[in-house]
Amino acid sequence: MPDLTTLLPPDDPRLAVLRGGDTGQNSRCVLLWVQRAQRATGNLAANLAIDLADRLGLPVVAAFCLVPAFPSATRRAYHFMGEGLAELPDAFARRGVGWELRAGEPGEVIPALARDLGAALVVTDQNALRIGREWRSGVAERLAVPMVAVDADVVIPTSLFPTEEWAPRTMRPKVHRLLDRFLVPIPEPDAKHRSTHRAGPDPLAAVAALDLDDRVGPTPDLPGGATAARARLRRFLDDQLDGYATNRDRADIDGTSRLSPYVHYGQIGPLEIAIAVRDAGRDGAPAEDVESFLDELITNRELSVNFALRNPAYDRYEGIPDWGRKTLDEHRADPRPVVYDLDALDAAATADPVWNAAQRQMVAEGWMPNRMRMYWAKQIVRWSATPEEAFAHTVVLNDRYFLCGRDPVGYAQIAWAVGGRHDRPFPPNKPILGLVRPMGLGALKKRFDPANYVRQIDERLGPAGASQTSLLTDEQAG
Ligand SMILES: Cc1cc2nc3c(=O)[nH]c(=O)nc-3n(C[C@H](O)[C@H](O)[C@H](O)COP(=O)(O)OP(=O)(O)OC[C@H]3O[C@@H](n4cnc5c(N)ncnc54)[C@H](O)[C@@H]3O)c2cc1C
Repeated sequence: MPDLTTLLPPDDPRLAVLRGGDTGQNSRCVLLWVQRAQRATGNLAANLAIDLADRLGLPVVAAFCLVPAFPSATRRAYHFMGEGLAELPDAFARRGVGWELRAGEPGEVIPALARDLGAALVVTDQNALRIGREWRSGVAERLAVPMVAVDADVVIPTSLFPTEEWAPRTMRPKVHRLLDRFLVPIPEPDAKHRSTHRAGPDPLAAVAALDLDDRVGPTPDLPGGATAARARLRRFLDDQLDGYATNRDRADIDGTSRLSPYVHYGQIGPLEIAIAVRDAGRDGAPAEDVESFLDELITNRELSVNFALRNPAYDRYEGIPDWGRKTLDEHRADPRPVVYDLDALDAAATADPVWNAAQRQMVAEGWMPNRMRMYWAKQIVRWSATPEEAFAHTVVLNDRYFLCGRDPVGYAQIAWAVGGRHDRPFPPNKPILGLVRPMGLGALKKRFDPANYVRQIDERLGPAGASQTSLLTDEQAG
C-alpha cells in the first residue's frame, strides 16, 4: 500500500506526520481518532480521513478513547463532554462514517482499535496541551501503521508560529497577514465508501458509569454538544454581536458568546465561528464588534495555544516572564491585606462581596465573565502568602470549576494575571504586585456597577452570607 506522505498534500502547515511509512496491507478502514476536535462536521481531521479513505477505496471509522480519570476533571467536565459525544455516532453516520467508543488509555486503546478494525492508517487532530501531545506520541510509537495529525482547532496553523510569541501585538500582524489564506469555509463531503460500524457503549451512559469527583456537578443551563454550540453561536450573531466590543467588559450584561466550553471540547471549531462572525460583518454587523470578537477568538486565543505549545512551563509559575518574577520577588515581603487558604477561596468566604459573587458563579455555573476572571485572579495574588501559591490556587480553582478549564487560554491568562505574561511592565510599583498590571474594584467600576453584578448573582443563586453584603472600598480591593 502507498506511503502515507505520497497521499498527503505537500507542505500543508496544518498536517504533522506522527508516524510515517506504508499504509497497512489488506486494510478494512481508515481510523479517525477523535480526541481534541469532538465534532462530526466542521472538522478538518474528519475531512482528511474521508479524503484519504476515498482514495484508498476504504470506509472511515471514527473512534473516541474515553480516559477514565483525566487529571483534575470532575463530573461536571465529563458530563459536558459526554453530552457532546452522545451526538457523534449519528452525526458521523450521516456522513457515512462508522463509530466506536472504548474506555482506557489512548496508548493502549488506539493501537488495539487500529489492529482490530484493520486500519490502513490513523488520522487524528492536534492538541497543544502536554498530556494531549504525550498521548499522541504514545499512540504513534505503538502503532503498526502510519498516523497523521490535523491542526483542526485553530484558525492559523500553529506550525506557522514556530517560536514563542511575546504578546498580542507581535501575534496580531502575523495573524492578519495569514487570515485570507486560512479563513476559508470547511467543506462537508460524505464518505464514498460508507461504514455501518457502530460499537461500544452509549457515550453518556459510559461517562455516567465513571467513578468521578461528584462534588462538582453538571450545569444544566449550559448543556454540551455541537447542537447547543451552534444554537449559542446563532444567538450571539442575532442578539449579542452588535455591541460586543463594549459589552464584553460588562459583567452585569450577558454580552458574550459563552462559547468557550464548546471550543474547549472541540464541539465547535474556531474556524466555523470565525467565518460566521466575519460573514455577519459583511452583512452589516458593526466592524468594531466583528474585529473585537475575531481578535479574541483568533489573536488572543491562538497566542495562548502558542504559549502552551512553545513554553514547557505553561501551567507553572515558572511560565511567567523574567520581569514578572523579578518584580514579584522584590515585593515578596510586602504585607498582605489578608491571607486566605485554598479552602476559604473555594468556599467564597472572603471579606469581598464582589470576589465572592464571582467565585460563587464559577462554582455554580461553571462560567464567569472575562472582567470578573481578571479581578478574581488578581485578588488571589494580593491575598496569598507567595505568588507561587497564588498561581497554584488559581489553577486549581480555574480547572476544577470552569467548563472551559484545563485549556491553553486559562493557563495563559493565569500567567498574565499573576505575572504579566503577554503583558508589559505597568509602572508605578504597587504593593505585592510590583510592576504587574493591577485590576481592582476601581477598574471594574469604570466599566460597570459591580454592586449590580453582585445583586444578579444573589438573585440567581440566593443571597450570600449577611456579613458579606457591603462592598469594600476601592483601596481595600486593590
Ligand atoms: C484569570 C483568567 C482565567 C481564564 N480562564 C479561562 C479558561 O480556563 N478557559 C478559557 O477558555 N478562557 C479562560 N479565560 C479567558 C476568557 O475569560 C474566556 O475565554 C471568556 O470569558 C469566555 O467567554 P466567552 O466564550 O463568552 O467569550 P467571548 O468574549 O464570546 O469570546 C469568544 C472566544 O474568544 C476566546 N477568548 C475570549 N477572551 C479571551 C482571552 N482573554 N484570551 C484568549 N482567548 C479569549 C475564547 O475562546 C472565547 O470563547 C480566562 C481569563 C482570565 C482573566
